[in-house]
Amino acid sequence: MLSSVYQTSNEYLFSRIGKKILDKERQGEHVIRLSMGDVTCPIAPCVVDSMCKAASELGEYATFRGYPPSNGYRFVREKIAALYGERIGPNDVFVSDGAKSDLAGWCGLFDLSVPAMIPNPSYPAYLGANVLRGRRVVEIPCAKSDGYQPLPPKHKERALIYLCSPSNPIGVALSRETLTKWVEYAIETKSLILYDTAYREFNHKAPKSIYEVDKALSVAVEIGSLSKSASFGGVRFGWSIVPGEIVVDGVSLRTAWERRQSTLFNGVSYVTQRGAESALSEEGRAYSKICIEKYIRSAEILATSIKDTTELIYGDSPYVWAMIDEDGWSFFDRLLAKGVAVTPGIGFGTEGARYVRLSGFAGREDILKSAAILPNLWHKK
Ligand code: PLP
Repeated sequence: MLSSVYQTSNEYLFSRIGKKILDKERQGEHVIRLSMGDVTCPIAPCVVDSMCKAASELGEYATFRGYPPSNGYRFVREKIAALYGERIGPNDVFVSDGAKSDLAGWCGLFDLSVPAMIPNPSYPAYLGANVLRGRRVVEIPCAKSDGYQPLPPKHKERALIYLCSPSNPIGVALSRETLTKWVEYAIETKSLILYDTAYREFNHKAPKSIYEVDKALSVAVEIGSLSKSASFGGVRFGWSIVPGEIVVDGVSLRTAWERRQSTLFNGVSYVTQRGAESALSEEGRAYSKICIEKYIRSAEILATSIKDTTELIYGDSPYVWAMIDEDGWSFFDRLLAKGVAVTPGIGFGTEGARYVRLSGFAGREDILKSAAILPNLWHKK
């Protein structure tokens, strides 16, 4: 009865890492977590105030609210739409409990005959969600010679295309040229782009939104999240932008997504949506900026500590993508034995086999401690 993929597929990357860290902590040892991309700055004071006020409203007859609309309250959809300027309106916005749920939800809308094109390496949920559905995957290499930009393949094939900018794990923002190539490819092959912008606020150079590229409104769904920028990893809030222009096989994609969401999803809590509204206010965004600068600086501290030891990429994301000269999981185990958890690059795809990802999301004290010991641990003695 259990689908065969659940009997055979591998454990999710961060579950495997989490269990290894817990085993170590059970032995009474402190582990510095440079592994999962989990933020450490607390939620902005204005957001906390808004959520408390919203919770109080729910405790009064006059202001009580029941089920929320499945696409989100208009007050927060307006705030999200404003991030995209004139191109996007509140009706294009569908709120959710995070980007991961939406990324998985989208692959349920399309026939399994359509493959997923996924950059290698990538955030592992793209591959996981498609493998669990039994969908074929076409890997798109992120070669150093292309500046780690995933580029459309030579062969033309209709596909669900996953792109992420700034990318996880490499941390490279996709250029306008790269995005233009993908939009052209999607138009030519009748493909759909799922554009993940979970790290949007870390990007100050390349386009912040795929809709800055001509014609993207007809082929791209953009997915956003407050997990990294507003410390909502635990609160849970994200969205999909589904422009009315997208028509797939004669059907409006927005109508199809609305049908999916209203059937399978019961919306995001009022308290969370008021918190998100506040996180996207001027005051909330100013607070986010301070946190993001701190994470970028932390990644820089980590990178500086090992830059004479190995080859690395950093700067446009909270991560450092660093080369290693041994198997990723043995590197992981060796560092964990010394109290530092990293993420083996192989967990993001075969192209990551000789890399690890270090996260600048850890607290500053932990960042400084690891910067002091990483150079000595890097190479096997
Ligand atoms: N997309 C990328 C690239 C991520 O790295 C993550 C989390 O690490 C997510 C999406 C998940 O975001 P959320 O917390 O909104 O589900």
